[in-house]
Amino acid sequence: MQFDDESVDASELEDQRGGGGLGRGLAVGGGGAGILGVVIYLLVAVLGGGGSDSAGSPLSQPGSGTSGSGTSSDVARRCNTAGAIDQYDDCFVLKAFNEINEVWGAQFARSGQTYTKPRLVYFSQAVRTGCGTASSQVGPFYCPPDRKVYIDLGFLDQLQRNYGAQGRYAQAYIVAHEVGHHLQTLTGTEARVRQAQQADPSRENPLSVQLELQADCYAGVWSTLANNAGNVTIGEADLDEALGAAQAVGDDRIQAQAGQVNPETWTHGSAQQRKDSFLTGYRGATLASCGTVPHA
Ligand SMILES: [Zn+2]
Repeated sequence: MQFDDESVDASELEDQRGGGGLGRGLAVGGGGAGILGVVIYLLVAVLGGGGSDSAGSPLSQPGSGTSGSGTSSDVARRCNTAGAIDQYDDCFVLKAFNEINEVWGAQFARSGQTYTKPRLVYFSQAVRTGCGTASSQVGPFYCPPDRKVYIDLGFLDQLQRNYGAQGRYAQAYIVAHEVGHHLQTLTGTEARVRQAQQADPSRENPLSVQLELQADCYAGVWSTLANNAGNVTIGEADLDEALGAAQAVGDDRIQAQAGQVNPETWTHGSAQQRKDSFLTGYRGATLASCGTVPHA
């Protein structure tokens, strides 16, 4: 895959790598099975609501990595040198994040709506979020209360090593999936799903799967729109990569690695479901093609 040559924009980036040092006592996290966009807000719901946490402690320290601070402008400077996007993971993910927001901004504008960008947080080991404290083990995730995408870039290596998902487009798919959750927050889908889950706890996992598959579908929609608009050039081999990644992080695959597959506990969907959802969006190329959630 190839991005356009617009410069990298770090104004939404909060670089908290190596800065937090929370280290221990991690409150949030589903272990290895939570990989790729753990639905943290479910945990928040279980733990008694996101409000208390955000009221109780300062969640992200302004100044240590927010826009305009030394750190993120350093990233921008480095990422805007020749070859940096291919060379450095942080530059690649930031560029992908930029292009994803650009596409959704244009798409929302076309239907007369305003798109508010999420923020992007790089962290290592552990991070305080509007959804509680999270460790790297949960994989990349989106936190609805603070509207931020959290990524420990070490996950990208893990994706390749442990799950066999190769290549840059696989990584872009991950970022697009997380921003897909942001769309669900903007459109009110996330709130509706949370309500439905509270109303009927026995549907918690199936509803979570619906939400996750829709985020996969949105990642597919983004791919086609971005390709059509020239933000990114995607080839056949790239598509295989993204599909490989979508399958690699299917609940059944992850559980099979852990030794036991139990569909009752799935929160993201099977490999086949995730692949199919991505393709639905890729071919449909509209948000509407991803359907509405919750559905029966
Ligand atoms: Zn997710």
